[in-house]
Amino acid sequence: MPPRAGKPVIVLDGPAGAGKSSVGREVARRLGLPFLDTGAIYRAITLFMLRDEIAPHDVGRLTERLRSFHLSFSGGRVTVCGEDVTNAIRAPEIDREVSLYSAVPELRSSILDIQRQGVSEGLVAEGRDMGTVVFPDADLKIFLTASPEARARRRYDERLDRGETPDYEEILEMVNRRDAIDSKRDIAPLKAACDAICLDTTGMSFEDVVAVILGHAARFA
Ligand code: C5P
Repeated sequence: MPPRAGKPVIVLDGPAGAGKSSVGREVARRLGLPFLDTGAIYRAITLFMLRDEIAPHDVGRLTERLRSFHLSFSGGRVTVCGEDVTNAIRAPEIDREVSLYSAVPELRSSILDIQRQGVSEGLVAEGRDMGTVVFPDADLKIFLTASPEARARRRYDERLDRGETPDYEEILEMVNRRDAIDSKRDIAPLKAACDAICLDTTGMSFEDVVAVILGHAARFA
């Protein structure tokens, strides 16, 4: 895909808590592009599968349920079949279970089209397999990492900001467990695309990370 002036596809991949969502959202805002948080899609599916008591290995029921699953993003809110699930998908229970559902190949293939909608208008998308599977021809691929402790600390601070009483050790364990499952799965594992720019954000401020990515994106201006 040759660079398309003004309408780039920029992807951010990386492990949990690397800052992909907050950084991606700001980069998108500054470039006037839509932002796609693909983790929210996997989280929303997990929420509904847990409610309906459909286990990840029950592929028949899972794919059947996905047929009536209508998800939409609007103004930073995530809605499924008319229900606003923006806060519910951030619950610790979803953190615990989401990697088990996202490892199901049938689930992943069923949401490929949802993720690619609107790509012709350019976008900033974040996830685990944006640069490797969903948008292999993206104009700019960034792989964000940070130490597990720095990533757990960010998740901890996010929860504090939401008025919760998080446990740092529990979050660190969850971040490590989720990354292990996401990295080792057979389908679309968490990994940097061979043409991605790797950025270790440990010790970097939010503004610095945004500035580095905008610097790489300057050629699209
Ligand atoms: O980014 P976030 O932490 O919200 O992602 C939640 C989970 O969704 C990840 O741990 C991973 O299991 C799954 N995911 C994925 N592929 C993506 C985005 C998220 O497998 N592109």
